[in-house]
Amino acid sequence: MKEDTIAAISTPMGEGGIGIIRISGEESFKIAKKLFYPKSKISFEEMKPRTMYLGNIYDDEEKYVVDEVLLVKFKAPNSYTTEDMVEIHSHGGFTAVRKILNLVLRNGARLAQPGEFTKRAFINGRIDLSQAEAVIDIIRAKTDKALKVAVDQLKGKISEKIKEIMDSLLSVIALVEANIDFPEEEIPEASPDIILKNIYYNIERLNNLKEKAGAGKILREGISTVIIGKPNVGKSSLLNALLMEKRAIVTEIPGTTRDVIEEYINVKGIPIKIIDTAGIRDTKDPVEKIGVERAMEKVQGAELVLFVVDAFGELEEEDYKIIENIREKRLLIIFNKIDLGQKIDEQKVKELLPGKRIVKISALRDEGIELLREEIYELIVNEVGSLEEGIIITAQRHIEAINKAIESLKEAQITVENNLPMEISAIYIREAWEYLGEITGDSVKEDILDAIFENFCIGK
Ligand code: GDP
Repeated sequence: MKEDTIAAISTPMGEGGIGIIRISGEESFKIAKKLFYPKSKISFEEMKPRTMYLGNIYDDEEKYVVDEVLLVKFKAPNSYTTEDMVEIHSHGGFTAVRKILNLVLRNGARLAQPGEFTKRAFINGRIDLSQAEAVIDIIRAKTDKALKVAVDQLKGKISEKIKEIMDSLLSVIALVEANIDFPEEEIPEASPDIILKNIYYNIERLNNLKEKAGAGKILREGISTVIIGKPNVGKSSLLNALLMEKRAIVTEIPGTTRDVIEEYINVKGIPIKIIDTAGIRDTKDPVEKIGVERAMEKVQGAELVLFVVDAFGELEEEDYKIIENIREKRLLIIFNKIDLGQKIDEQKVKELLPGKRIVKISALRDEGIELLREEIYELIVNEVGSLEEGIIITAQRHIEAINKAIESLKEAQITVENNLPMEISAIYIREAWEYLGEITGDSVKEDILDAIFENFCIGK
């Protein structure tokens, strides 16, 4: 099928050194040739692919030079989408990139939809669906570890594993079909034993893949965290102390709201997403100050609770109220202000929240913060397993597909065990194969595709 030519600005809108306009499709070269005048006076055809050329973008209707740019062309199939592609590197900012995009559109391209470049890479067979999804995870990765897992996925590590299982299922389906179609021929018999062995083996492999799904979800989405405690125990100071180290690695970009930058804390590679930082921070204004009540609502949805108490104070009514609400949560108890000494009844706290760890810190003096990070890390890793090695499935969509595949295989198992005709087992095994194909894109439906690529940004 002949695709139309698409174009978009691929860099974020805002002031920056450069901005990049991307064009993909059959008309890309024709359009670029019309607009671009290389300084070296060679023709567009003479320009080598994958080589930058300096030149001007010229508006032939309004007769003026829009910007001095670098242009690079990619000849099909050696491009991101596998189609002919052009990238124009103009000066950044709002005007030049937009103006150039408009010129490209006026000359026959259409504006790309979100993720359409990546979608074309998938449709044209350069990458499979899980690899396409990895692209967005790379763009959104909050920590180095999350990035590494996404890059592994882009390299095809997950697809490889899934495809191995799909191939194994297919081999047993083929065997069953051959036995049905050519019962007289000399082919290996599709005995219940062989089929069952295959089913067990593949269920086990799928379960192994799922083992790290919890870790994957956390790496991909972060772990939603609430800092709770009575007024003045030091919640806001703790947040600041936790954010302190992060500031060293995150450059503050003028014009970006602080809340956005500071939403995630990187705890040894785990993205910790602090809910309602604004609420914690509004400490000056008593009216704005987050009420314990409001924080308690947030606790319900939180995956991690940091319960701060004043080490130099006593347990009060509000503490008891909070404790009632957080018993069941993944929780760390933080004794803050330990620099002043410890007055609080530690034994009592332990009795009220049995099995929960206590970390003693001074947010003000920045003491114990590293230990707190260790404790957060341990708490999570103990539950979801190591984030270090092995293949980590991160996407909920993949986990659901794996679950459905396991269910189908279990159905198949039951049919074999009950001596039902083996073509019935084959139907269930094929169903499992199809669910797995949703991960790689071998058997994916259009609506799922649309939903996946809608999440992308324009220009990717
Ligand atoms: P919040 O209302 O829970 O957010 O508490 P704040 O973080 O605003 O802190 C309340 C007061 O306690 C402030 O005056 C802080 O300087 C002080 N504070 C916070 N952490 C510590 C600490 O570790 N040691 C001491 N001595 N004071 C602290």
